[in-house]
Amino acid sequence: MGKKDKQFVEKVTAMEEDFAQWYTDVVKQADLVDYASVRGSMIIRPYGYAIWENIRDVLDKKIKDTGHQNMYFPLFIPESLLQKEKDHIEGFAPEVAWVTHGGSEELQERLVVRPTSEVLFAEHYSKIIHSYRDLPKLYNQWSNVVRWEKTTRPFLRSLEFLWQEGHTCHATEQDAAEETRKMLDVYATVCEDFLAIPVIKGRKTEKEKFAGANYTLTIESLMHDGKALQTGTSHHLGTGFAEAFDITYSDENGNQQYVHQTSWGITTRLIGALIMVHGDNRGLVVPPRVAPTQVMIVPIAQHKEGVLERAYELKGQVAEFARVDIDASDKMPGWKFNEYEMKGIPLRLEVGPKDIEKNQVVLVRRDTGEKSFVAMDELSTIIPALLEDIQQTLYDRALAHREEKTTNVTTFAEFKQALEQNPGFVEAMWCEDKACEENIKEETGATSRCIPFEQENRAGHCVCCGKEATQLVYWAKAY
Ligand SMILES: [Zn+2]
Repeated sequence: MGKKDKQFVEKVTAMEEDFAQWYTDVVKQADLVDYASVRGSMIIRPYGYAIWENIRDVLDKKIKDTGHQNMYFPLFIPESLLQKEKDHIEGFAPEVAWVTHGGSEELQERLVVRPTSEVLFAEHYSKIIHSYRDLPKLYNQWSNVVRWEKTTRPFLRSLEFLWQEGHTCHATEQDAAEETRKMLDVYATVCEDFLAIPVIKGRKTEKEKFAGANYTLTIESLMHDGKALQTGTSHHLGTGFAEAFDITYSDENGNQQYVHQTSWGITTRLIGALIMVHGDNRGLVVPPRVAPTQVMIVPIAQHKEGVLERAYELKGQVAEFARVDIDASDKMPGWKFNEYEMKGIPLRLEVGPKDIEKNQVVLVRRDTGEKSFVAMDELSTIIPALLEDIQQTLYDRALAHREEKTTNVTTFAEFKQALEQNPGFVEAMWCEDKACEENIKEETGATSRCIPFEQENRAGHCVCCGKEATQLVYWAKAY
């Protein structure tokens, strides 16, 4: 271990040693979050928030490009409204936060701090939808929600988090089904093309679906430690909420029909995924397309004449084609190297007196540590190409990791062995009986992650009970 590596070990726990502690160290050391005074809630610091803004901007554009409009609902839900859809309230009741007083007066009716806004949208839709001409209604909201979780971790599970929730109404079940799938595909694109996180698309089992949905579609990703993370979900709500809230429209023949609904969301959890898929023992690694700063300039021997001037000129030049910043503080270059590696900035640009003489700079990749000397007048072609290459390398690496950590099994013994010896996804046939699903969870700690769209059409036997089975399921221990 080199001297430089040792320095890092002191700052961040090695992930091989204690992955959970590594994660906690990274979110703190990379200045993503700070803990707030209420247990389980987090302060998202400027660097963490800038990453979220980039994710949000990419997704928001795609949401609008697919015909949706943003709007905003209030934070509070009257208890009676939440009670209207029975499955929904049952699913959320254990983790809602209640407001019982306004000032010093006890409220006549308790209010819930929104854990999700299906009922608010439903109530509104029942008022504004009358005719088939009003459909589809394609609304989205960017907001915070509160879920009173018992165990919490920054980004992965916190009392309050940021997200978007899309809520749509359609004339037919088929239209709603297409919407459900369309938005899952949008999420998959954001994850794969921007966050460089490969996903498996599929459907949740009945047990794992959203409370009140007909079915739930999901994208699932594998973290560095072999645990899965649900990175986005899209729900076909059918007519359950429409019936509870009387959301009807008159069709072309003047008959009253219930609307068919969807809802879909992604959250600040995605930042947790980004950390756990790409991070290493030096800290965070941020994919260039969502990196707030793509290139950090570190001047070397900046007290020498002309160095800072040249460094600032370079900043102006690079700003034409990349998000660039400069650290001209009087801290040592070594400190700066560590700091920006910890923050996962994709490229470091070093420039000192000798480089200026040779009309070159040094570029260092965060993902591979590779160093190259590049002529100053070639930066406009080299830097964009390197950023693209880093983006692709991160994706390829994550995909290779997932494939290496995916085991196909046919027996329960193999299932258990796979989870012990090569933790990750386990592909196994399942008979669709909930009892088997529960048994698997109890015996192994793994839950069904999804029934992938891409079925290999394998006939086989349930890995748990041995009965004939037609569904292939991805199982894993999960966050
Ligand atoms: Zn079975």
